[in-house]
Amino acid sequence: MSRGLAKQQAKEKAAKKNQKLKGSSKHDHKAARAAQLKLVCSVCRAPMSDKSVYKSHFQAKHPKAPTPPELQ
Ligand SMILES: [Zn+2]
Repeated sequence: MSRGLAKQQAKEKAAKKNQKLKGSSKHDHKAARAAQLKLVCSVCRAPMSDKSVYKSHFQAKHPKAPTPPELQ
């Protein structure tokens, strides 16, 4: 008789656990963003959010500098 209820409670417990896991995934997102920002201008060390930003920055700010391998 109480089996159904216990099952239901177990389900709720699992759902709460999942929510907790979802909350911790924010950190993973942050880490991913930090990894993206590892791209820095090889001339002035300014952080670049992605390759295309870096490329236009490089062409605008350091047109005479040799193109870094990341942009070739
Ligand atoms: Zn630069």
